[in-house]
Amino acid sequence: MQRPIETNVSILSKVARDADPSNPEDLSIAQDLKDTLEAHRDGCVGMAANMIGEPVRIIAFVDEMLGGRITVLFNPRITASAGLYETSEGCLSLDGMTNVRRAERIEVDYMNRKGKNRHAIFDGFTAQIIQHEVDHCDGILV
Ligand SMILES: [Zn+2]
Repeated sequence: MQRPIETNVSILSKVARDADPSNPEDLSIAQDLKDTLEAHRDGCVGMAANMIGEPVRIIAFVDEMLGGRITVLFNPRITASAGLYETSEGCLSLDGMTNVRRAERIEVDYMNRKGKNRHAIFDGFTAQIIQHEVDHCDGILV
């Protein structure tokens, strides 16, 4: 179910609790996050659950490497990064663009929706989106 986009900075600044994919409530938040991103995919490539008012560590992003399919990661944590560059980013929850420093290539630990621990390497634009959304999970806004 599509949810409204959270714009209250004090809510967005909360550090997300860990998600539990065996908890139906967390799976339902993940589905809502996916539905909300789907509804905004014209102007948005990624979202964290904080952005729908749920401080739970779940992110969703449009994966160009999978033909634009929306991918959901539970408890994503960046374990390594390389190749820093400067760029600017916008956010549906915030006005304007902000200059940020991102890594070209990242390694991420996460859980899939079945609760299995996974590790993956992302680069380029997908890596940039994931870094933005993981920041949201940590209550960091660009
Ligand atoms: Zn954002």
